[in-house]
Amino acid sequence: MPIASINPATGETIATFELLTTTDIEQRLQRAMEAFEINRARSFDERAARMRKAAQILESRAAKFARTITLEMGKPIVAAVAEVKKCATVCRHYAEHAERYLAEEHIETDASESYVRFDPLGPILAVMPWNFPFWQVFRFAAPALMAGNVGLLKHASNVPQSALAIEDILREAGFDRGEFQTLLITSDQVAALLDDERVKAATLTGSEPAGASVASNAAKRIKKSVLELGGSDPFIVMPSADLDAAVKTGIKARIVNNGQSCIAAKRFIVHDDIADEFQRRFVSAMEALRVGDPLEETTDIGPLATPQIVDDIEKQVDASVNAGAKLLTGGKRLRERGNFYAPTVLADIPSSAPAYAEETFGPVASLFRVRNADEAVRLANATPFGLGASVWTTNRDEAETFIARVEAGQVFVNAMVASDPRMPFGGVKHSGFGRELGVYGIREFVNIKTVWVL
Ligand code: NAP
Repeated sequence: MPIASINPATGETIATFELLTTTDIEQRLQRAMEAFEINRARSFDERAARMRKAAQILESRAAKFARTITLEMGKPIVAAVAEVKKCATVCRHYAEHAERYLAEEHIETDASESYVRFDPLGPILAVMPWNFPFWQVFRFAAPALMAGNVGLLKHASNVPQSALAIEDILREAGFDRGEFQTLLITSDQVAALLDDERVKAATLTGSEPAGASVASNAAKRIKKSVLELGGSDPFIVMPSADLDAAVKTGIKARIVNNGQSCIAAKRFIVHDDIADEFQRRFVSAMEALRVGDPLEETTDIGPLATPQIVDDIEKQVDASVNAGAKLLTGGKRLRERGNFYAPTVLADIPSSAPAYAEETFGPVASLFRVRNADEAVRLANATPFGLGASVWTTNRDEAETFIARVEAGQVFVNAMVASDPRMPFGGVKHSGFGRELGVYGIREFVNIKTVWVL
């Protein structure tokens, strides 16, 4: 069955789903077109009232939705509750600010009147990953719907219950049934959707191959796309940093979502002067983490989402060790049942090892030592990715150097990389293009229309 919920902690199949047929997809596309006429005609206030209602539903039933998330993809329940509540914040953010973000901009020219307006485009296809099954979708849906567009969701095949729950939430909040639709389809069916004239643009959050496929298929039909892809974020620690805070936050930033986050800190680049102490504290904190049942509130790390991810992470770690990297802790599967992998730390990693520059999508930290800020920048940039970067220093000039020279879509100083509805989010290099969130996010899928009245 290509679309199924399988509990990653036990391997049990919870539910299976039939794929949509071509006729079903045609019906949904028609519905989307009809719904677009409804949503584009609504005032911002009407859209905002629905978005606020969605926020209320998310908050009032956060525990229920969180359980669905944890059972489908294994993140610790406390993190799942936080994810659902964060979705409420993005709904409220755009309910409050969309009208201002999309207000006409009057510009003085030779015309009697000249301005820019932002018109919706129509049905937008969102291809989404399983790792933040609610958040990734809401951070697309809230601005898209507030701009007057309508959404078509192709969610990852392992989180169908989350996908259907999101459609229900938006329906219950008052959006028409065609305004946001979940399509239970496989990735093979995406190209045909992009070929359809009624789908106006696409956004994908996921891996590089999936992004390249969706963006090129969209481009063949001259459609815009936004890509949020992988990352191998550096976490740079300099001698002036608060070491306690850097270690504590570094652990959190590495194991967020069981280590399966695009913006997780993956490469720890530490100045020689403090490297021994950082390593000692970091390894001991990784070893103290509680790995286990994600439904337990005290669990730090649950199972990885699929058996394939455990296989992939095991291969990367083994190949890195074979290439000469030193295994400081972990490096093995845990438990007989479920997709568990031990918190792992690697050091002395040669540039030929996968852990040097590749994305490690699990609880595996790579430690590096550098002699100065220049070396730190070079190493930080020695990856095809450019999503986020976290830098730890109390020296303002040093911080400015990192802010300016690290190739990333976002640089956080003395804090872990995180998304915030008020700030744009996205990457450079192989991490993708376009932005989500903030004013930039809502302007990705609109017609920026110039109006000139003589
Ligand atoms: P993935 O395999 O690329 O899957 C993501 C989505 O794309 C799923 O819905 C998947 O559907 C679909 N898909 C896969 N191949 C496709 C194709 N050829 N054409 C159309 N759709 C396709 O990604 P993943 O491995 O599950 O997710 C992890 C990746 O996402 C990591 O690299 C991570 O860093 C990245 N990510 C990035 C961000 C960001 O904001 N930058 C956020 C979260 C995750 P099926 O499930 O049906 O295959």
